[in-house]
Amino acid sequence: MKTITLDQWKVVLTAVGDVIAAKEKHLNELDSLIGDGDHGSSMKRGFEAVRSLIAESSHTNVGELFSGVGAVLLQEIGGAVGPLLGSFFTAAARQARDLHEVDLAVWSAMFAAGVAKVRQFGKASPGDKTMLDALQPACDAFETANRQSLPLQDAFRKAAGEARLGAEHTAGWVAKFGRAKFLGERAIGHQDPGATSIYFMLDAMAEALSRMEESR
Ligand code: ADP
Ligand code: MG
Repeated sequence: MKTITLDQWKVVLTAVGDVIAAKEKHLNELDSLIGDGDHGSSMKRGFEAVRSLIAESSHTNVGELFSGVGAVLLQEIGGAVGPLLGSFFTAAARQARDLHEVDLAVWSAMFAAGVAKVRQFGKASPGDKTMLDALQPACDAFETANRQSLPLQDAFRKAAGEARLGAEHTAGWVAKFGRAKFLGERAIGHQDPGATSIYFMLDAMAEALSRMEESR
């Protein structure tokens, strides 16, 4: 697979919503250990709104779709993650303006712009036990995959694998941001919910793209 079209993105983002809904309880449980227990429900609500957006609006290009997704996530998720994930999609959208399909080079630039925005806006760095611990290694994996000209579904598979490892590593650390920060050393031993949902999102994307490739 060399490009992801606008219509394929709609399928991919719907698949992300399905996985996030299935993981709601698990994500709430992670958040209840080091936060306030709402992360799964917030994410599910956000992606339900994305599903309605896809069903009800007609988007003419990928940039428009992503900026719509960013706005909806910002509005529906709230908390710490809504503005962060919302700005991720909004920043990514700017790299896909007017494009009806994106290849790995464009996607890699979109993802990097999204991660840069999350870092700028949330002020966290990798190692601070936040979603960035999944986002940054995934971003690096997309850049490497792009240099190697890998098929898109393989690039997503690698990025999801790195995000999973990154999310798992957060269990060893104290948190420097978010509610978990107030727990100090007591946060050690628990995986960050935000990093975990980034892994689930990328894994859902990789799965959806692999299914598309197989059915061609
Ligand atoms: P809230 O803390 O408002 O209840 P959620 O429970 O939905 O929000 O999300 C918590 C997640 O937000 C954390 O697990 C962490 O990954 C992420 N997070 C919090 N603050 C930041 C930040 N400054 N930068 C990046 N991610 C952050
Ligand atoms: Mg929470």
